Formats: sequence, C-alpha cells, structure tokens
Amino acid sequence: MPISLYNTMSRSVEQFKPISDETVKMYCCGPTVYNYAHIGNLRTYIFEDVLKRTLLHAGYKVTHVMNITDVGHLTGDGDDGEDKMEKSARESGKSVWDIARFYTEAFFKDFDALHNLRPDITCKATDHVADMIALIQRLEKGGHTYVAGGNVYFSIDTFPDYGRLARLDLNELRSGARIDVDDNKRNPKDFVLWFTNSKFGEQAMMWDSPWGRGYPGWHIECSAMSMKYLGEHFDIHCGGIDAIPIHHTNEIAQSEAATGHTWVNYWLHGEFLLNDTGKMSKSSGEFLTLSVLTSKGYDPMDYRFFILGGHYRSQLKFSWQAMDTARTARGNLFDRIAALKAGAAPAKSLGEAASRWCASFDEHVFNDLNTPRGLADLWGLLKDDTISPAEKLAAAYRMDTILGLGFESLSARQAEESIVDDPEALALVARRVEAKKARDYALADEIRDKLDAMGYAVKDTPDGTRLMKKM
Ligand code: AMP
Ligand code: ZN
Repeated sequence: MPISLYNTMSRSVEQFKPISDETVKMYCCGPTVYNYAHIGNLRTYIFEDVLKRTLLHAGYKVTHVMNITDVGHLTGDGDDGEDKMEKSARESGKSVWDIARFYTEAFFKDFDALHNLRPDITCKATDHVADMIALIQRLEKGGHTYVAGGNVYFSIDTFPDYGRLARLDLNELRSGARIDVDDNKRNPKDFVLWFTNSKFGEQAMMWDSPWGRGYPGWHIECSAMSMKYLGEHFDIHCGGIDAIPIHHTNEIAQSEAATGHTWVNYWLHGEFLLNDTGKMSKSSGEFLTLSVLTSKGYDPMDYRFFILGGHYRSQLKFSWQAMDTARTARGNLFDRIAALKAGAAPAKSLGEAASRWCASFDEHVFNDLNTPRGLADLWGLLKDDTISPAEKLAAAYRMDTILGLGFESLSARQAEESIVDDPEALALVARRVEAKKARDYALADEIRDKLDAMGYAVKDTPDGTRLMKKM
C-alpha cells in the first residue's frame, strides 16, 4: 500500500517515493537544550515518531537523524536577541556545557517515556563546528556570502529560489528593509552564518574560524549535519510549523546554494499545540512539561494518546479536561488489551474480519498519518464480536507498531499480574461469575470484598473478568 504525505513544498498530499527503495533518509530538527521540552515540542516529536514508525511498518529501513542545538540559537529566529544557551547559563549560574548536558538528558527522558523510537544518529551542533565552517567556506567560494561588521552573512540575492518553501514574496521583503535592526545586512532576510562580532562580551562557546574566533549561526548546523549523515540529497525533513518561514527557508538556501541541486524531497511540518492563551512557547516562560503531567497523575501514554487523537496538521488545544478524557479512554483501551492478553496468546494469522480492520487502519495512517481514523479502526476491531480474542490481540499489536502505545509490554506486565495460582481465589472468581450470570449481584459483591481482603483485585471488562494480585 503506498504512503501519501503532505509536502509543505508543494502544498499537496503526494505519493511518497523514496530516493532508494531500501532506506528512507529522514532528518528532524531537534531540541534547543536550554530548558525542558514543553508538551508542544513533544507533540512534534510524537508526529515524527509516527511518521518513522509508518515507514518502518511499510517495510522500509529508516535512517533517522536528529540534531541537538547546543549553540547558536538566538532568542529571535532572525538573528535578533541573545544566544538561548548563554542566557539560560547566566540566569542559572551554571556553565553552558552543564546546561546542555542537563537538558539533553531531560529531553531524552521525556522522549523515551513517550515511546518515541530513538534516532539512529543524534548529533550535537558543538561537535560539528568544523563541518559548518567547511560548508560556509563552500558558500563563500560560490559567492553566496559577505562579511560585514565582523559577521559572515548569507546573501539571499545570490539564491533566486529563496523563500520557495514559505512562498515568501521577495518584493515585500525588500520593502521591509527599513524595519530591520541589523545595518550590516544588505537584504533584510540575509542571515548570519558565522558570528565573530558577538553581541555578548561573555560568550562562552567560541571556536577559531577563517573569519576569526566566534560561533555559528543557528541554521547552518542542520544543513551541515544532515548532509554529513544523510548525503546531499535525501528524502524527508521535518519540524514544527514555525520552522517554515525562517529556519527551514534558510536551511534550504544554504544547502542548495552550496550543492546546486535539490536537497530534500519531502518537507513535513507538525502543527502547534495551543494553550488557553494561544501558542505554547518556551520563551514566554509559561509552558507545561511532561513531568508536570505525570506529577498530576497522568501517564505519559495518556499524553501520547491525546496527541494521536488529533491530526498532526491540525492545531490541537490542550486542556485538563481533554487530558482527563484521554486518560479515561486510554485506561479503557489498556484494560481491554490486558483482558485479551490474560485470556489468549496473539493469533499467528488473521482471519478476514481482523485483516479488514488492519487494512483500514493502514489505509488511514498511510494517508498522511491519519491517526485519529487509525484509533477509530482500533476501537472498531476491539468491539467487533465476530473476531476471536487471539486475533484481536494480534491485530492490535500490529496497529500498535505505529501507535506506539506499548500494548505488548503492557500485556506482559498484566499477564504477570494475572497469574494467580491460589485455588481458593480462583474458585471464588468462578463462583462470582456464576453469581453474576444468575443476577445475584449482592453475592457477586460479597465475593469481590472477600477477594479484596485476600489481596486480589477483580475487574470486570467487556472481555471477561480479570483477577489480579494487588501490588
Ligand atoms: P525548539 O527546542 O524550540 O528548537 O523546538 C523543538 C521543536 O518543537 C521544533 O520542531 C518546533 O518547531 C516545535 N515546537 C515549538 N513549539 C511548539 C508547539 N507549541 N507545538 C508543537 N510544536 C512546537
Ligand atoms: Zn533545523
């Protein structure tokens, strides 16, 4: 079944055709590690994970590269403001290197807790400054740069295709020249490749370069590292929607000006998670982290489930009420899966009805990652009385290779809980099932209380009664 993806470059859903039949090469802009990732950032990584899992499910190998921005990202994307890392270090009294290490670890803790598959290559900007310098030199040789006020700039007028991704109107850009604050720029949309003229006297991260001691601009890192690990032409580049007008626009200009050919075939962007006041952002200081959610009793899978319930190209509004709804639905889902596991091993093959649900699931998810429709297929499967528990389980596992909710490990855990070898407890459960059949609910409740006192929990699920040792 072919995969279709919305390509921001063409503004249309296109059938995905990889450059090589075997391995899909995919680059995702990673975190700027000056603070915790907020749950909006994490939405973007879940969308990218679903994309990767879909490609894997379709039978491709995937080489997934993600960068860690630990230098050069200013508080404004257009070369304005100060370095986010330096600012965080100054405010916390720690070194920039400690800040980077701390927040990178925190990032991956959240990343893993959300069941995102780790990138095959994770690369830090600070480890690749030599690659960035080499790329800037290549651009310099091609006549795409100029030095002004001590900094090296990319001249967008040397790249006629500038702004194609964002469909920028260059005439409009020109007329905006007056409002630009950096007098060194020949065109207001020119951007810094290398800073030697630091605005901040105490800049800690500096490297020698042909243009003097300094540090790279933010955009150059993604061009240099993606080309190093994926080659000069690769399949997919992803990020949040905010990256389109500046960051990805500038990445394309640098990369294609240097190589003279197309750099990336498919551009995918995830829409924003919003809060009551609009966009959730780190710089506004008001943002929610995964730890805040877990400290309030939500499971990371409640958040993943909430995100999967929206299409990645639609804005999604966060609210506690929405999280509660997600938690209840996710809990019901897990109960059903655990009950299936307690009663059956996954079937080795699927009959017609289960196969139909799987095909419908694939059709929806392969169609521009429509996870809300995919979840509806999962529920449809679980509620379909014509399908045996063993087949349901096998089909649910299959869907979960994309959803990433962790059904297999959940069922293993639940299965352990379900192994009750106490004959008295098992006899009581059997009596309770009979009592319920006879509509003797008073007796059923009495038996439940007795089991409770013996240290067992009884749970009635649509797929039968479950008996578990209480933890
Ligand atoms: P940053 O760590 O700030 O570089 O951002 C990491 C990723 O999160 C980028 O791909 C951003 O585009 C994305 N992002 C930032 N804010 C949001 C948001 N509110 N919702 C979804 N994605 C976001
Ligand atoms: Zn990037």
